[in-house]
Amino acid sequence: MAELATYEGAATIEKVASLCRRRGFVYPSSDIYGGLGSAYDYGHYGVLLKQNVKAAWQRSLAQERDDVVLLDSTIILNPKVWVASGHVGGFSDPLIDCRTCKQRFRADHIATAQCGKRPSKPPGGTPDCDLTEAREFNLMFETYLGPMHETADKVYLRPETAQGIFINFKNVTSSLRVKPPFGIAQIGKSFRNEITPGNFLFRTREFEQMEMEFFVPPGEAQHWFEFWVNARRQWYLDLGLRESHLRVRAHDVDELSHYSSGTSDLEYLFPIGWSELEGIANRGDFDLRAHAEHSGTKLEWIGQDERYVPHVIEPAAGADRAALSFLVDAYDEEEVGGEPRVVLRFHPRLAPVKVAVLPLVGKDEGLVGKARPLYEDLRRAMSAEYDDSASIGKRYRRQDEIGTPWALTIDHQTLEDDTVTIRDRDSLAQERIPIAGARELLLDRLEQPWHPRP
Ligand code: ATP
Repeated sequence: MAELATYEGAATIEKVASLCRRRGFVYPSSDIYGGLGSAYDYGHYGVLLKQNVKAAWQRSLAQERDDVVLLDSTIILNPKVWVASGHVGGFSDPLIDCRTCKQRFRADHIATAQCGKRPSKPPGGTPDCDLTEAREFNLMFETYLGPMHETADKVYLRPETAQGIFINFKNVTSSLRVKPPFGIAQIGKSFRNEITPGNFLFRTREFEQMEMEFFVPPGEAQHWFEFWVNARRQWYLDLGLRESHLRVRAHDVDELSHYSSGTSDLEYLFPIGWSELEGIANRGDFDLRAHAEHSGTKLEWIGQDERYVPHVIEPAAGADRAALSFLVDAYDEEEVGGEPRVVLRFHPRLAPVKVAVLPLVGKDEGLVGKARPLYEDLRRAMSAEYDDSASIGKRYRRQDEIGTPWALTIDHQTLEDDTVTIRDRDSLAQERIPIAGARELLLDRLEQPWHPRP
């Protein structure tokens, strides 16, 4: 099948951002002060969505495998870490300024960027453009430890979570029952002073990463590299991303980072085009050797009759970027009964709310007397919501827009036979089920495989 060239579906970044704001997923940060370029706060449903993404990642590694352990290291590390890792010397992007329109561009993105005055042209594409030479700009945020702002106290906000893992290699191998091949996985905030943040959650200066360093005997590195490229691709598919919108792209030799002997990106076809979702790199023994050399601590695996510096395969994902891909992929518009409907077709495991309990008439004490206990029973097992406001149609539309897969409606028949209707978000089918089995039925459906629309 030929690869898609453009995004298929109703979503645009603007529509998704607008829905996110309207429905309490994501707000512009510092909004009442005019915002802070490309920074976002997560609202209630956004918190739940991102938590589900992170939980699914952690579960697939640390729970469903027995060779991955967890770590949560600090954001501010000894600054020597960033000297050893190469970030102080080389974690930079080439920056180009335009003296005419005062815009800044990443030199490596200039072909796809827009001139500040004539957006149909690339920077440098008009006679008025006056571009500077490219200058290297370090992306690390600096701050100071303690009250004195002296050079000796300068530290950095971590630009990736990976280094916290490498410097704990010895702690982990000497305290936990691990043996290569094994992984250390960490989720946490990272900070990069990006030159051109933008496209909503796609590129921000403060973001969350989900990274694993998988330590292997050197001879097994290629095998594990291929294994993790496939496993990570499958993770996105299992959570409902459309296969037609996901691809693996191997880096060309001239694209490879200084530490990498092979990198493949998982790319998602966003409305802005194919873009990196996650990178999987074969980092060799670069990091452990660099930290051993700079710290003076041996970082190696010592087995019964073997001793070596493990090689490392690193799947590095972004929690916010993953959440954005799931939002974009789930976003759909259609017409139902002559009315427009916006719906987020999330995989039920990712949906912020799994079930809504809706008494047909909010003020009817008989219906409320059935609906509240059902809701209180369900919320012990899953994220559930009770809504008795507005017309039933409006309430369904609200749940569709936040991607709730099922709604249970309590009506007058419920009073007679203790059944409710269950409405399916995607098919809109309604069937009657007994209240008594509702919780088990939903728990069972949550375990079932789910397939995205074609
Ligand atoms: P890019 O080329 O897009 O700047 P990168 O190759 O430098 O990204 P990595 O260092 O490999 O990115 O980071 C791993 C993952 O972290 C990325 O695939 C992405 O999901 C996420 N990530 C990186 N930078 C950002 C950012 N500024 N905002 C949101 N997520 C990010």
